[in-house]
Amino acid sequence: MNTANATYLTRQKAQQVAQEEVVLNAAYINGDWVAIDSLTTDSDNKNSHALYDPNSGEIIATTRLCSSAHVESAVSAATQAYASWSHTDVSIRARYLSAIAESMEQQFDKLVGLSVLNNGKPIEEAKIDVGDAIACYRYYADLITDQATWSEVSTLESGIRLLKTYAPVGVCALITPWNFPMVTTAWKLAPALAAGCTVLLKPSEVTLLPELMLGNILSQIGLPQGVVNILPGAAEVGAAMTSHPLIDKVSFTGSNAVGEKVMSQAAKNVKDISLELGGKSAIVVCADADIDHACDLIIGGIFTNAGQICSATSRLIIHQSIAESLFETLKAKTTSLQIGDGFDTETQVGPLVSKQQLDQVKKYVDIAATEQLTCLTGGKIVDSAGYFATPTIYTDVPTTSQLWMEEVFGPVLVSTTFTEASEAIRLANDSKFALAATIVSADETVALEMALQIQAGHLWINEQQTVLPEAGWGGFKQSGIGRELGGDGLSAYQKSKHVLLTQ
Ligand code: NAD
Repeated sequence: MNTANATYLTRQKAQQVAQEEVVLNAAYINGDWVAIDSLTTDSDNKNSHALYDPNSGEIIATTRLCSSAHVESAVSAATQAYASWSHTDVSIRARYLSAIAESMEQQFDKLVGLSVLNNGKPIEEAKIDVGDAIACYRYYADLITDQATWSEVSTLESGIRLLKTYAPVGVCALITPWNFPMVTTAWKLAPALAAGCTVLLKPSEVTLLPELMLGNILSQIGLPQGVVNILPGAAEVGAAMTSHPLIDKVSFTGSNAVGEKVMSQAAKNVKDISLELGGKSAIVVCADADIDHACDLIIGGIFTNAGQICSATSRLIIHQSIAESLFETLKAKTTSLQIGDGFDTETQVGPLVSKQQLDQVKKYVDIAATEQLTCLTGGKIVDSAGYFATPTIYTDVPTTSQLWMEEVFGPVLVSTTFTEASEAIRLANDSKFALAATIVSADETVALEMALQIQAGHLWINEQQTVLPEAGWGGFKQSGIGRELGGDGLSAYQKSKHVLLTQ
């Protein structure tokens, strides 16, 4: 990847890109930027929506948001485009996906800069967000190219042939959160386009800057009109999309509270649905674990992106025999983490994305105080104009604690100890969520056996949370419905068709 000219990785340069290249006050509909005011009838929507720099709490930009009128217009564009896009040769669809990847690569530093500016994440984490998104577009370009139009299904019947093919699911509503703007979009958009679906994309209203750049990219590569429509909007727009009778599929990533609403909004016309929701994932550290490495995995699992990761391993389950020594190392490593501005290359933990998210962390720190939890380190909101909280660890947390049970979505780790493997598994599964888990052990056989028994859609053994495009992503229980990435991610945007004929 060409990142040699890292010219956009300063706040000043990113602000310049935000001002000069991001199209605000407009929605990307039918291959064009449409002024939001031109379609808005709702007078409330005349109010400007502010985008903030989480590092300083200052407003970076203001924009109008879409209303349901824009949804109507975008649905009409996507429905018209579907007639031809759904029948476009896969090699052409693959070429467009590769072109998106290439264009993102050319504008890598701009996208990273906007992500740091609007989301607050440290540069290295923003690079992962953009880099993984690029890999995802490339992966689905290859996967769709390799998918045969017809495959033979073996059957015990004689004298007949059974053939299977795939058709796109239809016009899709894609709704994303703010924590990894480029990659959560790519996990939906790349397989949807590969499958032949057309799309309404609603990015989070919190982090519009990087996602609006995608409109420029789609325009630059000449993607046919109406195939992708981008609607900068809030809940009202999401609700209009997910309940629209001409939308065939909803793919939503976000909180459980909104996910439940989306599910009921989509129920009306029996839409196909995928939900990627919350998590309260476990990291199990066995007695034979390397303590130093375990601490790095614990820190990576909870303090990356200031804990704002759906798969954050926010519950530490550690073997009693090594707890004391592990906590000593963990405390030392945690207190030495560099908290600061995402644009500072020394920064390891950036701010929370918003005042609202900081207040959420503060709420749980206050609950921890009320519950009299033992705080190993942290538990403080930094006194600054930005949205910073210190990396926080609580020990001996009872499973009845709100902090054990609920997703904080911030840099807050709770921990407890175990003595038998069966107890570790029971504790890991003691959650209404079941998205991911990490196991740290010198014994791969033991770790793999645990992996079979821990409820989670993705597990890591002695590894940081790398997510490969080839691996399916999604949870059990209330962590959601369906899988993104991998072959399963493509299946989410296709329906199988079978044809029986004489041999
Ligand atoms: P959120 O639920 O507040 O918002 C998500 C999106 O839904 C936003 O675009 C928002 O505008 C939209 N929305 C709000 N109300 C809506 C409605 N009524 N109908 C349709 N859309 C609506 O979530 P968030 O705060 O942006 O993100 C944090 C949450 O996302 C966390 O709970 C986290 O665990 C989850 N998440 C899950 C995954 C995963 O892969 N499982 C990945 C990232 C984030």
